[in-house]
Amino acid sequence: MAIVIVGASLAGANAAETLRSEGYQKEIIMIGDEPDPPYERPPLSKGYLLGNQELDEAFVHPMEWYREHTIDLRLSTSVTALDVGDKRVRLSSGERIGYDKLLLATGARPRPVDVGGARYLRDIRDSKALKSLLTAGTDVAVIGAGWIGLEVTAAARTHGAEVSVVETDSLPLRRVLGDELAAFYRDVHADKGVAFHFGRTVTSSDGASVTLDDGTSVPADVVLAGVGVSPCTELAADAGLEVDNGIVVSESLQTSAPDVYACGDAANWFNPLIGARMRVEHWENARQGGMVAARAMLGQQVSYDWIPYFYSDQYDVGMEYSGWVGPGGYDRVVIRGSMDSREFIAFWVKDSRVLAGMNVNVWDVQDDIRALIKAGYADGATVDLAKLADGEAALDTSLIA
Ligand SMILES: Cc1cc2nc3c(=O)[nH]c(=O)nc-3n(C[C@H](O)[C@H](O)[C@H](O)COP(=O)(O)OP(=O)(O)OC[C@H]3O[C@@H](n4cnc5c(N)ncnc54)[C@H](O)[C@@H]3O)c2cc1C
Repeated sequence: MAIVIVGASLAGANAAETLRSEGYQKEIIMIGDEPDPPYERPPLSKGYLLGNQELDEAFVHPMEWYREHTIDLRLSTSVTALDVGDKRVRLSSGERIGYDKLLLATGARPRPVDVGGARYLRDIRDSKALKSLLTAGTDVAVIGAGWIGLEVTAAARTHGAEVSVVETDSLPLRRVLGDELAAFYRDVHADKGVAFHFGRTVTSSDGASVTLDDGTSVPADVVLAGVGVSPCTELAADAGLEVDNGIVVSESLQTSAPDVYACGDAANWFNPLIGARMRVEHWENARQGGMVAARAMLGQQVSYDWIPYFYSDQYDVGMEYSGWVGPGGYDRVVIRGSMDSREFIAFWVKDSRVLAGMNVNVWDVQDDIRALIKAGYADGATVDLAKLADGEAALDTSLIA
């Protein structure tokens, strides 16, 4: 019997690594339906797509690492069924494997759009294909002004392509960042010559242009859809596990079935620090969640009380964001620094508690931002808002009122 990990992913690889570093010596089998060993996806829309990062750098470990750590890595293989009664999974090869503990790290896949010829960006093959198309003079239409859409936009403009972004909302990233910071990202792209079509959708494509729902025709040799992802939950749902916007897990990442755990993009977990259920589609959640799930599978008492974190790079604008703000969950945004010079920290605040913070082209401040957020959630700590906005005041817990 073994620990079986479904998804040769960032989360799965971090779980396997933690199992070994915590001293687990029995069999680990990791099964992934992609042909590549676990890799990090962020370069697919940034460094690799821009042509300044090699793909090799994206792999979590080289292949030898899995052999050295006796991890039985089975690639190009799907898990097609899960029997939680018999504690077995069935593989696309027909083989059945028993498990002591099972980790579902199945990730997410892009939501489809009903536009012929639209491309998506999730895996290495998508990125390679897209990269070959982003050349000077190419017309690119991006459907959806979320993180993936905007990062592809930045890469395409950097390659010299002409880019139009079609977005149903009135600003990019509005649901994540709110109006104030969404307008900032609109301006970053507009300054680079990106044409935005807000409040619109694409209804059709003919290979050279797309038509919008108001009849406008927009040139488009390439159509890239980035309208969000859906968690890969079929395996769990078919096995009778509780699924609701992801595989539902406890604060120790345990599913509704005994000895079955889930983490990463696929999991909807209860975060005891924030006091809410959440499903997070970001790199650091895959890393942290994989580590916590491994410890949980080893029987350790764990509580995944982690503050969500992510980052994005677009042109020369780099950012990191920590925190959790539900829709309409903040009453003001406090800015420390200068948005005009594109070097600032934005704080989302409610009743003088810091819920989230985003540093833009300002570095080495995440630990301090996270300490303020943690104090707000754990102890209800409020901060002095004038000092929070004052770049001369120390950015630490002395801001707590
Ligand atoms: C282009 C791109 C750029 C990104 N940039 C950033 C960024 O800048 N910052 C950030 O924080 N996050 C970023 N992300 C998000 C981040 O990459 C994801 O949150 C992370 O990959 C999630 O890891 P995961 O291990 O949960 O799942 P995934 O990476 O989705 O891996 C799951 C794996 O499981 C496989 N699988 C699913 N079902 C089965 C099955 N039944 N049998 C076998 N295998 C199966 C899937 O094919 C996949 O290989 C980016 C994502 C993309 C696509």
